[in-house]
Amino acid sequence: MRGEIISVGTELLLGQIVDTNARYLSEQLAACGVSVHWQVTVGDNLERVTQAFRTAMDRAELVIASGGLGPTSDDLTRQALACALGCKLVHSEEAWHQLQRFFLQRDRTPSEHDRRQALIVPGARILPNLRGTAPGLQVEGPAGHRIFLLPGPPNELIPMFEGQVLPSLAHNGMVILSRYVRMVGIPEAKLSERLDDLFASDNPTLAPYASSGELYVRITVRTEHVPSGVEELDKMEQRVSQRLAPYVYGRDQDTLEMVVGQLLREGRKTLSVAESCTGGRLASRLTGIAGSSDFFLLGIVAYSDESKRRDLGVSDALLAREGAVSADVARAMADGVRALAKSDYGVGITGIAGPTGGSLEKPVGLVYVAVAGGGGEVKEYRLTGDRGTIQERAAQQALVQLWQLLRDKEKNG
Ligand code: ATP
Repeated sequence: MRGEIISVGTELLLGQIVDTNARYLSEQLAACGVSVHWQVTVGDNLERVTQAFRTAMDRAELVIASGGLGPTSDDLTRQALACALGCKLVHSEEAWHQLQRFFLQRDRTPSEHDRRQALIVPGARILPNLRGTAPGLQVEGPAGHRIFLLPGPPNELIPMFEGQVLPSLAHNGMVILSRYVRMVGIPEAKLSERLDDLFASDNPTLAPYASSGELYVRITVRTEHVPSGVEELDKMEQRVSQRLAPYVYGRDQDTLEMVVGQLLREGRKTLSVAESCTGGRLASRLTGIAGSSDFFLLGIVAYSDESKRRDLGVSDALLAREGAVSADVARAMADGVRALAKSDYGVGITGIAGPTGGSLEKPVGLVYVAVAGGGGEVKEYRLTGDRGTIQERAAQQALVQLWQLLRDKEKNG
């Protein structure tokens, strides 16, 4: 099946926002066997969006548009599709009720403008929007085209796509099932090399993704029979996991902090962290997990040398001899916070997030992460990116170190 993605929005053409929806949709469609031949970006202009739909229907069987479904006058995607199909929008009581319910749940009343969002192409299937007001629409085109209109905000589009579009992309009684295998610490090239033959598989298909210091593989299977599809997924997941065993930390919606938290909880161990260059990002990720009070005791942002001395007991002599950004200071920070919190493990992070403050000897991106307790060690990283990226990557490396240590402990009893 040939697919086309139409991203509607003048903001996109002006470069004010990046088209992450097209990227997301393309990845998803590729993984379930749809060949996306075209991605089109068009501004909020009725004539041009109409033309975009006409062109798309000439050359693709599946058309997915994002954006322009809201209540304002520049939201004209529905209208443009109706023009392209030669019909008129009609009011839908079903869509209107959903909208009213959404407002009611938030103690608000929809305005006259909001009623526009209940206008639909005749015969369209309404895709409820759980996160926002504008419902999505599924419309059948003149030659059996499947056309989907989805809202622009990614936090609305993604759940709508996964919950309501993806399942209906299957045809002739087929369903599409997928699974994610999540990994850290593996270079992309190694992943490709180890899974090369599996990437050639047609069903299930395998697609690799990279995001925020992690790699994951999505396995997708098309099947007529759910239990056999699940079996296929299990088999493929096992093959992937066997080949990449030292790197796989979780599956599906797992996050590294969730897995670290789970290992700490299972081992009845506690953790405290002392952060300098990451400014609390590690503590924030760990405490983002519900129930983290089971294992997380204390987080300190020891940004100044004074705080490292006073709060963590890092010695003057060490700071003077090695400098605040050094392996020994990271270790002393980890020991210090562990002693202060009386936790089983302590983490110390120190580094130069930039953009200034680096030197030839200690450049921007140099980061030390130490784990104290249970045989933890200190590691040096040379990270790249802007300040925020370096902070994020440093926190990520700390989680990777913790996960590797806890996993090995569990393996070795
Ligand atoms: P709303 O009800 O919020 O108006 P909408 O469907 O009308 O939704 P737009 O008005 O086109 O969507 O876009 C709303 C916001 O969604 C944009 O300001 C932008 O933040 C985000 N957005 C829109 N299109 C994209 C895209 N292609 N990629 C990433 N984000 C997008």
